[in-house]
Amino acid sequence: MDHQVAALRSELDTFPKRVQEADAQLAGAKAALAAAKELQARDIGERKKIEFDVQQWKDRARKYRDQTAAVKTNEAYKALQHEIANAEAEMAAAEDRQLASMVAGEDAERKVRKAEADLRESETAVNAEKKRIQALHVEKKKQLDAALAERAKALEPVPEDFRVLYERIAKRHHGTGVAEARDGQCRGCGMRVLPHIAEELRREGNEEVFRCESCGLILYTLEPIVPPAAPPSGDSTAGAQPNS
Ligand SMILES: [Zn+2]
Repeated sequence: MDHQVAALRSELDTFPKRVQEADAQLAGAKAALAAAKELQARDIGERKKIEFDVQQWKDRARKYRDQTAAVKTNEAYKALQHEIANAEAEMAAAEDRQLASMVAGEDAERKVRKAEADLRESETAVNAEKKRIQALHVEKKKQLDAALAERAKALEPVPEDFRVLYERIAKRHHGTGVAEARDGQCRGCGMRVLPHIAEELRREGNEEVFRCESCGLILYTLEPIVPPAAPPSGDSTAGAQPNS
């Protein structure tokens, strides 16, 4: 039972990490969306600058055209015409850049929409996964509660001092205080169990607690219990096995 309790506890301990791992799956999709939005913001800033350029060259061209009416000399007029042509050429170039930027803006917008859709999809999958983890968590918790109740019930007939001893040993041995003695070996640590102890363990009516000399676990055996030797005479008291 303690093995079962320990296994359930260590499994329950993994649940927060499982939820974290599920959430971590969202990190990639969130980063992709942030990157797409950043690119879009940069794009919008760029476009505003271009719009400003277009307006500036347009204003300048208008200003020069307005000035042509007041011009007195042919030379000054030519110079103004030159400035107007230059401003208009700059304006046309800025307008070309504006158009290209608008096309790029549509592309950036599409990328943001796509990243948003991807994130939503990831969220749906992760939420489903988290729900599944939570349901499993509830189930494992229920199993642990049942195992603990069963354990408490099994402990009821165990004498207090033995219970205390068991708990003390169990604390140092991954939650269990007992080990099987089989084929002359402690199954907790693999060390030899002395033959007379193995024999005592198998003797019906033995109430003594034997602990492994090496690891300290309380030994028990599943090997057939030897019924007390039938008294050869009329002696009915449970006699100890003759020690060899
Ligand atoms: Zn041992």
